[in-house]
Amino acid sequence: MILQRKDVLGLEEMSAEEILGVLDIANQFRAVFDRPVRSVPVMRGRTVVNFFHEPSTRTRISFELAEKRLSADIINFVSSESSFKKGETLRDTAENLAAMKIDMLVVRHSSAGAAQYLARVLDCSVINAGDGPHEHPTQGLLDIMTMRQRLGDLRGKKVTIIGDISHSRVARSNIWGLTKLGAAVTLCGPPTMMPGGLDKLGCTIEYDLAQAVKDADVLNVLRIQLERHTSRSFPSNREYHKMFGITTDVVRSLKKNAFVMHPGPMNRDVEISSEVADGPRQVILDQVANGVAVRMALIYLLSGGDPGALGGTA
Ligand code: ASP
Repeated sequence: MILQRKDVLGLEEMSAEEILGVLDIANQFRAVFDRPVRSVPVMRGRTVVNFFHEPSTRTRISFELAEKRLSADIINFVSSESSFKKGETLRDTAENLAAMKIDMLVVRHSSAGAAQYLARVLDCSVINAGDGPHEHPTQGLLDIMTMRQRLGDLRGKKVTIIGDISHSRVARSNIWGLTKLGAAVTLCGPPTMMPGGLDKLGCTIEYDLAQAVKDADVLNVLRIQLERHTSRSFPSNREYHKMFGITTDVVRSLKKNAFVMHPGPMNRDVEISSEVADGPRQVILDQVANGVAVRMALIYLLSGGDPGALGGTA
């Protein structure tokens, strides 16, 4: 059994073996994308609810596409259209979902711990699609998949994560997953966006961008999470771009085969210049494609799919 769990809530709780096992299945699903018929019937008759209580475009569409490609029945539940507007609590929602006997819940929420809470009170599987600044496990997995496609084994590879580390669930899921796979993770950003204690997770902290990107194999560039800032942690977008923005000059200083990632949505010309975002060293759309495959793999495995059975299917 690849996944020894009912839910996927974060990469903190997953072992290196589980991560690699999921990525192996995701690679098999990736192979389906190039076929004329891109769906497989493995989730026929099962119902997945997508419960998004925070804005999302990419992740929501990606989950929906993954579920459709697995032939699941889908219900989309967006908080702006739901009873949350009328004051319903997460607990009431959970009880209603439980009464409807769904098979799986995908949840995006602005509060850290919301997915854990729902996983505890519901019998069905829960996948965390991002909970506040805490974790975004499917983003972590798709980032790692994209890195492994280019670099193979990540042991000893230098991955530099740049930007708003303190508010970033993407950074946290990357850190847990990458350190478990033996990558050397460097974190870089303004001191006002760097929480304490991350060196204890085995990361190197570097405030100087030139030092941080030196010898890096990958740059993973984070969005400034303006919606999570209570006060501004940097003087202006222009100042941030000058100090920590990934520009063509920065890219020129990288190792020959190093590449640039971004989870999206991008603040162009703040954390990444448009030239780099559209340039030859970025792999952003590969990340998007891998996201669908990773989500297919998780849904398949959590619903009891047999990894061996994919030989003929995927
Ligand atoms: N889309 C990612 C997330 O939901 C990254 C971001 O929003 O900056 O965390």
